[in-house]
Amino acid sequence: MDCCCVDCCGHGHPHAFTRRQWMWSTALASVGTMLSGGVGPRGSSAAAQTAENASAALDVLRKSISVDVHTHGGMTGIMSQAPPNGDLAKGMRAGSLAVACLADVPDAPILRRNAAGVLTAMRTPEPGELYKYHLGRLDWVDEMVASHNLRRALTAADLEAAHAAGQPAIVGDVEGLDFLEGKLERLEHSHQRGVRHVQLVHYTPNDIGDFQTGIVTHHGLTPYGAEVIRACQRLGFVCDVAHATEDTAKAAVRVSTKPLLLSHTAISGSPAMGPTPLAARQISRDHARAIAQTGGAIGIWHFFPSLEKYVDGLKEMADVVGVDHVCIGTDQSSNPGILPDYTQWVHLVAAMLRGGFSAEEAGRIAGGNYMRVFRAAVG
Ligand SMILES: [Zn+2]
Ligand SMILES: [Zn+2]
Repeated sequence: MDCCCVDCCGHGHPHAFTRRQWMWSTALASVGTMLSGGVGPRGSSAAAQTAENASAALDVLRKSISVDVHTHGGMTGIMSQAPPNGDLAKGMRAGSLAVACLADVPDAPILRRNAAGVLTAMRTPEPGELYKYHLGRLDWVDEMVASHNLRRALTAADLEAAHAAGQPAIVGDVEGLDFLEGKLERLEHSHQRGVRHVQLVHYTPNDIGDFQTGIVTHHGLTPYGAEVIRACQRLGFVCDVAHATEDTAKAAVRVSTKPLLLSHTAISGSPAMGPTPLAARQISRDHARAIAQTGGAIGIWHFFPSLEKYVDGLKEMADVVGVDHVCIGTDQSSNPGILPDYTQWVHLVAAMLRGGFSAEEAGRIAGGNYMRVFRAAVG
């Protein structure tokens, strides 16, 4: 049921807007800025075309639930030292993003950038250290959800209800199960705390499997890693194999009974990305196809030179696995990318339409494909 603005933002306004109207009206203001702010080409017919394109993008976002399948919520998000704040919800409303999979990073306390600019674990964590940090971040999320009118989605029905009401939603996400230390009850506890999406490995060696930027020690998934995947699927988590080596990901494919997600990457040697220090995190065509064969989806991150190049990056992946297996996982954090916040989300969808995706394809890439994975894994 719709509510009035007093409930939505905590301070009274003379007019009672429904949440739906509020979300879409801020998005329209953003499109208005686009029309007057030089985002579109000059000249009346070009401007008219831009307006048409922007309203077509909004239409896509009204009809389908859009999802950033991997994010840290930007500069003041879950990886920052900032207290929980309204920036994420505000940006999502402005750009009409319905759902953010908000990932805490349990191994963050031991990560540093090496000379090549690549994140590396600088030391072995103390026993319990990463779990303690993870629990602290779950508290942070609780506070943010409670104070900033975000809906925490525990089921697909929650995501549908949030979208229908125009209320931004988050899916609790964890980047790397380095905190488990062999204790599957910690996974269960995270589920009870509202997490619905977990990534197996990150930058810290663990006993689940190998990661792309580390030394190969397990030659794929370990028997314990297989047990973790089965536990994820039994409990109802989206299982994310981003950062896993090709061998680990392919072994996960063999174990998995549900569609897998690989939330943030690009195709190996992506011409649209160009030369990048992130090359080791890109994936081969075979690696991508293995994920698609589970009915899964592959998220393209936002480290591209422009929105147009980003759309090319989506096409590069769609050419390999098909439009039904591509999604958007920005990995928005402190690193610069084309979507530093979500005010640009509607413009990204507009760029997809300009770039040749049909409205229906744009809807699937912008969220429909993730929703399929989420429904199968979480229900
Ligand atoms: Zn990552
Ligand atoms: Zn990340």
